Amino acid sequence: MTSSNDKGAQQPDGRPSHGASTSIKAIKAVRGTRDLLPDQTPLWNRVEATARAVFARYGFGEIRTPVFEATELFARGVGEETDIVSKEMFTWEDRARAASEKAQSLTLRPESTAGVVRAYIEHKMGETGALQKLYYIGPQFRRERPQKGRYRQFWQIGAEVIGPPSSGAESPVRDAEVLEMLDAYLAELGVRGYRLELNSVGSAEDRALYNKALREALAPVKDKLCADNQRRAETNPLRVLDSKDEQDQEIINALPKIADFLSEESREHFAQVRAALDACGVKYHLNPRLVRGLDYYTRTTFEFTVDTGLGTQNALLGGGRYDGLSEMLGGPKAPGIGFAIGEDRLILVLQEQTRLDAETSGVPPSEEKLDVYVAPLGAAQNAAALALARELRCEGLSVEVGDGAFKLRKSFDIADKIARAIVLLGEDEVASGVLTVKTFASGEQVKVPRAELTGHLRSC
Ligand code: AMP
Repeated sequence: MTSSNDKGAQQPDGRPSHGASTSIKAIKAVRGTRDLLPDQTPLWNRVEATARAVFARYGFGEIRTPVFEATELFARGVGEETDIVSKEMFTWEDRARAASEKAQSLTLRPESTAGVVRAYIEHKMGETGALQKLYYIGPQFRRERPQKGRYRQFWQIGAEVIGPPSSGAESPVRDAEVLEMLDAYLAELGVRGYRLELNSVGSAEDRALYNKALREALAPVKDKLCADNQRRAETNPLRVLDSKDEQDQEIINALPKIADFLSEESREHFAQVRAALDACGVKYHLNPRLVRGLDYYTRTTFEFTVDTGLGTQNALLGGGRYDGLSEMLGGPKAPGIGFAIGEDRLILVLQEQTRLDAETSGVPPSEEKLDVYVAPLGAAQNAAALALARELRCEGLSVEVGDGAFKLRKSFDIADKIARAIVLLGEDEVASGVLTVKTFASGEQVKVPRAELTGHLRSC
């Protein structure tokens, strides 16, 4: 036995030996990561199932790309100067394990667009000539400062529409369709009070002009900005516009606006996106400061924000057009538009809405319960209970099986918590094939022949 102040008996390799459990410190989930337990996952599944159903109606197919990629993909695709690449990536030097392999720098994906476009290029998906509509659901990794709605492992539900220019991938109708789909998705999930913020950051050339103007406008006032914005003013002036720093807002609001630097073509593209949204009745708010953090965005950029449940992290999703990304990654010309929904944040919003609804109505949210709990009345009925549960499950009911060692009171208490009804299975019931069934909502207790049991349980 190990005493409690023993540091824990250790094996030669430093691992604790058996029997040292009293002094072994329990290992916790890593900062910024979390477990999703069964009381939460039904909502996650509903959010994902709804995404799959809605996206399928718009012709999207699922793509699953690796969770880690070559670091260079993000350096090139997302941009060296972005916060993501410069300070938030989980990157490691992967050793070569055989002479045929080379050591290389790998990174846990901080976002999925770069990976999807890499896959588009690698699998020559453009060669079909068809527009590709792809969606994904999966974890992303960023070493950000954790807070509510901001994690180091978080989930995104995203989609990309990409193809050769001849596929119509560049058409403003595609931008509008993606935005209209997001509106339909959030409405179908029952999200309330969301707001679409819309902007155009123009073509790469427009942005270069704007960047120059921003640099010039920032130069005389740079010293008055916070340290972060001073750095951004040097490295990536567009990012200054994203800043939420209170003290800097006056300066930022007085900076030149991207709208004044859009070429005629970009202006016309944006006008057509808005006209198509108007035709669909999708509401939006123009936000000239919405430039988004990643380097690959061109023309349309957008975010959906919500007031409920997210505090300062109120961006539910973001996206935009990335017409030059494929070329940046060594691929063919392939304009595209996409978005990424922060699934963790979407869940927080839905949970908060449910809480508010329960508060207003005084009715607690209903819990998912099993159809029935089968309680053997003694150890001799354990096997029969399992066999009955198997039959009921085959008939489509959800069932939990008790234990003949439990007192009747305990079986009832457990059953009442997790199931809508309890079936008692004692010696008599096994012999006669007539079961005692109690339904908790009505309190009714009746004898039911086995042949009628499933129908009875379905109706109660
Ligand atoms: P981005 O890929 O930065 O455009 O982010 C798209 C969406 O992902 C954001 O609007 C957030 O909802 C979500 N998101 C980004 N970073 C995090 C994070 N660290 N934790 C949780 N959600 C995030």
